Amino acid sequence: METVPCRSCGASLIWGVNAQGERVPVDAEPRKRITLWPSKDQALPPLASLIDTYVSHWATCSSPEAQAWRAQQSQGRTG
Ligand SMILES: [Zn+2]
Repeated sequence: METVPCRSCGASLIWGVNAQGERVPVDAEPRKRITLWPSKDQALPPLASLIDTYVSHWATCSSPEAQAWRAQQSQGRTG
């Protein structure tokens, strides 16, 4: 995937598009996570599968725009 530097902080980014068609910047470096898939046989434990996940760059960027975004995100939370 193509990486580009963030215009605010210079970090490497990948631009994705979400289901609403909006562009979403994510940190270029993936983080390993485990996802669980329910087994067809309910008696068996779920299948654990290692996957690459990406963090929204809005969550890690040091720019004022990103800080405003984080403030907006936290306002909607009730804790
Ligand atoms: Zn940035």
